[in-house]
Amino acid sequence: MPKFDFDLIVIGSGPAGQRAAIQAAKLDKRVAMVERKTVLGGVSVNTGTIPSKTFREAVLDLSGFRERAFYGMSYTVKQNITIEDLLLRTDQVIRHEIDLIRHQLTRNRVELIGATASFHDAHTLKLNYVDGRGERLVTGEVVVIATGTEATMDPHIAFDGKRIITSDDILSLDRLPRTLAVVGAGVIGCEYASMFAALGVRVTLVDRRPRLLPFVDCEIVDILTHHLRENRVTMRLNEEVNTIEPIRDEHGDRVKIHLASGKQIVAEKALYSIGRTGNTSKLNLQAAGLPADDRGRLVVNESYQTQVPHIYAVGDVIGFPSLASTSMEQGRLAVCHAFHIPAKAVPELFPYGIYTIPEISMVGKTEEELTLAEVPYEVGKALYREIARGQILGDVTGLLKIIFRTDTREILGVHIIGEGATELVHIGQAVLSFGGKLDYFVNNVFNYPTLAECYKTAAFDGINRMGLHPEETDPLTFPVNPANA
Ligand SMILES: Cc1cc2nc3c(=O)[nH]c(=O)nc-3n(C[C@H](O)[C@H](O)[C@H](O)COP(=O)(O)OP(=O)(O)OC[C@H]3O[C@@H](n4cnc5c(N)ncnc54)[C@H](O)[C@@H]3O)c2cc1C
Repeated sequence: MPKFDFDLIVIGSGPAGQRAAIQAAKLDKRVAMVERKTVLGGVSVNTGTIPSKTFREAVLDLSGFRERAFYGMSYTVKQNITIEDLLLRTDQVIRHEIDLIRHQLTRNRVELIGATASFHDAHTLKLNYVDGRGERLVTGEVVVIATGTEATMDPHIAFDGKRIITSDDILSLDRLPRTLAVVGAGVIGCEYASMFAALGVRVTLVDRRPRLLPFVDCEIVDILTHHLRENRVTMRLNEEVNTIEPIRDEHGDRVKIHLASGKQIVAEKALYSIGRTGNTSKLNLQAAGLPADDRGRLVVNESYQTQVPHIYAVGDVIGFPSLASTSMEQGRLAVCHAFHIPAKAVPELFPYGIYTIPEISMVGKTEEELTLAEVPYEVGKALYREIARGQILGDVTGLLKIIFRTDTREILGVHIIGEGATELVHIGQAVLSFGGKLDYFVNNVFNYPTLAECYKTAAFDGINRMGLHPEETDPLTFPVNPANA
């Protein structure tokens, strides 16, 4: 008889949990996945990544936003866009994704358990069935905690899911507001602020910090800020929110936000987006001998092991970078480590995608980081308006910027704002990961007309700034295998 009920128990069915479970199943392990919601997929599929990106696509399509460079600011595909119009597309994509995940997990013989899990001891979980069938104890040789996060809620704020909401409530909005206050100019706050602004909603964006998205390259943030202002977003930066008060006046139910500076913002709805807290409070972590930090997050080593060696934690519950993309890889790597399969840590050079309108993507270092680290660098830039594809698409404000070392011309970072940025970044990521130089882009041919051509234009701009001629660059910029030379 095996000593444990399962070789692996995964808590949580988000991207991190899914990859952990499937990796273990591929290794012929007996795997259970416990999920407390009646639907699989976690925040990623149900309220976060997938819905917000589908919502954005629906906003862009129905508003005709992409075509406005040609047909004018008043152009729209559909008059009076409703929340139902936007959610129609979102619902279909969510349903499809949930079905796909269930299919993948069951095909790999992962036992799916609809229950809330908490620790009984370090190898035993108490499962409280969601369908009211009571409780059960199960044991696992290895446990992976992939419980994700939930929107941080200030206890002094009267969240009601209608007027004062978090990003989790967007999909159940009763109607599109005419005015919206977004508290928190992080990734989620900026993404939704730009989407609602593209729909013609008057948005006010409030943050206590002096700039949007502090980890993003300054020049890119300046361009985003300009776009938001063009779309009539009012920025209230360096402002602290004291209270959010629900009010009723002759215009109906609204909110009044009181700022520490004495200013007030009145809007139909307030989207509160100041961060996320790890889902660990219900796990009874003490029973497993595990602590969580003050934001509910777990500390792990480079193999995603907690201080209890057979308990791993992956995904958003361990904090930065809190992306679906990195969460998946962490889940896979944790399981490889647990079952002694050689695997490497998540590469440092992962790309970051921010689906504002326009979208932003980046990989590697920013100018600010390099200046701080005293690394000598130069930049090469391509404006989308100089590229035929940019003109064809009607994106004449996009920018692709390559940062490279002045002495070796090695690429240090790629930063893009504009149509297709989140796809385009992977070309830069590949060259960067292989230790490539700016020269690669100077000496290679790209499909025409494409946005990828921006890389070549930026590279020429870079060598021009260095006072170099193309002939002075090196056509072989990757280490080559002598056997193939
Ligand atoms: C609005 C929004 C937009 C986003 N956009 C992007 C994006 O564009 N790109 C990107 O890469 N990332 C994006 N993210 C982040 C992404 O959603 C997360 O990084 C990802 O979902 C983390 O995956 P996870 O598996 O760690 O956790 P989650 O997806 O949060 O899943 C955790 C699961 O664990 C379950 N659970 C929790 N506690 C228990 C328990 N005790 N017992 C049983 N089950 C439990 C939860 O119900 C949940 O289903 C976005 C997030 C939000 C909120």
